[in-house]
Amino acid sequence: MDTPIEVLHRVFGYDSFRAGQQEIIDQVVAGGDALVLMPTGGGKSLCYQIPALVRPGVGVVISPLIALMQDQVDALRALGVRAGFLNSTQDFDERQLVEAEFLAGELDLLYLAPERLRVDATMRLLAKGEISVFAIDEAHCVSQWGHDFRPDYLALSELHERWPDVPRIALTATATPATHAEISTRLGLDQARHFVASFDRPNIHYRITPKSEPKRQLLEFLRTEHPDESGIVYCLSRSSVEKIAEFLVDNGIAAVPYHAGLDARTRALHQARFLREDGLIVVATIAFGMGIDKPDVRFVAHLDLPKSVEGYYQETGRAGRDGLPATAWMAYGLQDVVQHRRMAMEGDEAHRRRQVLHLDAMLALCETVGCRRVMLLDYFGQKGSEPCGNCDTCQTAPESWDGTVPAQKVLSTVLRLARERRQKFGVGQVVDILLGKKTAKVLQHGHDTLTVFGVGSELGNTEWHGVVRQLLAQGLLAVEPAHGALVLTDDSAAVLRGQREVLLRRDTLRPARTKSTTTG
Ligand code: ADP
Ligand code: ZN
Repeated sequence: MDTPIEVLHRVFGYDSFRAGQQEIIDQVVAGGDALVLMPTGGGKSLCYQIPALVRPGVGVVISPLIALMQDQVDALRALGVRAGFLNSTQDFDERQLVEAEFLAGELDLLYLAPERLRVDATMRLLAKGEISVFAIDEAHCVSQWGHDFRPDYLALSELHERWPDVPRIALTATATPATHAEISTRLGLDQARHFVASFDRPNIHYRITPKSEPKRQLLEFLRTEHPDESGIVYCLSRSSVEKIAEFLVDNGIAAVPYHAGLDARTRALHQARFLREDGLIVVATIAFGMGIDKPDVRFVAHLDLPKSVEGYYQETGRAGRDGLPATAWMAYGLQDVVQHRRMAMEGDEAHRRRQVLHLDAMLALCETVGCRRVMLLDYFGQKGSEPCGNCDTCQTAPESWDGTVPAQKVLSTVLRLARERRQKFGVGQVVDILLGKKTAKVLQHGHDTLTVFGVGSELGNTEWHGVVRQLLAQGLLAVEPAHGALVLTDDSAAVLRGQREVLLRRDTLRPARTKSTTTG
């Protein structure tokens, strides 16, 4: 029987193991369970593929990434590994063929969609073969707390009851201490050894910039820092994906759209082009990227705020897998906060609480005056790291300023508008009033007679929007879900009474750095 290192050389053609791989593989080869937390690109696949090749029997891999199974199996077959998959995209004949291979002992690895395990026939099939290891990929899908919950994953705890002697390895790139604990409990992995790799991606430069004219800002970022390089631009909606892709093409930049509304053929084509071609940009919703293994993605840009820090980390983690410098760039503005605050108010109570916590953590990352990486690592349970020197706040320390008086002006305007029963007002009206603008809407409602009318001449339009954004981010203001109107929160009163200071981050729209400083 080959040893793991021999399989690494002979089958995969690599010289040495990466950090953590050897220990994890040894644990599973010896028949023990493992829970593996490793960032995207860390090399999780080998951690179950090699045990599957070293131990007798078939390695069964549970994965929700149905769209990628064909590619994964093709790649393994190209290396001479006997791999197959079973999922809902196959017809009866294709499935039969794989089942026959499994029963004949002609497979090293069998990829299974989680819903297959609900089918009795699959369980009977597995019972007839010899299984070397169960690998549970994307294990965070078992977490109801997380953002990718799949009910089918809850049933995976049964595998251990039916096959108590088969080692299990659960893997994920997304795990806060809470998710980590939940995976362990739900999958019954408390006896497993836990392997937690560092979540730091030192080659990724993090930058979050206030959004003013997103298209222009994106274009400038691409032209000055990543001309002709491969990358992903994430947008929230399908329609903005289409618009941005078109905008880039109109400006002479090679880009294709990707979202769940496109037909399967177009999606497959765009994904394949992205993997094969140099310098192509994919503009996508979060439907794009799970499990995509392209080492030379030089940047990930967000034009909209991700729903959670987990999402942000996972999406930005697709950049720079080859270890060379890469950029995670995001433009973020007031409307993002308003929209997310509203979305966070939807659904049942438990869901809302979760959403709000996720959003607060994401906003804190955006508004921090400290190192972004320290904050990210802290979020994932790696406490106490040093400022990185490779994020925007490290490189240009943002100033904070005492925004108590401007905050009071905003809050008292909101307070006055809230007294009007018939109509609700949003950010635009508040800022117009502060700036003393006699717009039609201001005059129509007699808002030019309010005592706060025109008291805000010390700041400009953009700055006021920034103040409102930060008040929302800090929970000193809220958005009413039904109308999107601004309303006070329980914490607003202390500010209005002068009992609480408000520290704000000075928004700076720095000129984009030149390419040489990013990569040098
Ligand atoms: P993950 O699943 O953790 O995101 P993968 O398993 O897809 O990561 O591995 C990321 C990339 O690193 C792949 O291209 C893989 O072939 C490569 N890789 C993994 N382990 C090694 C190793 N020991 N030596 C060289 N390359 C490796
Ligand atoms: Zn930093």
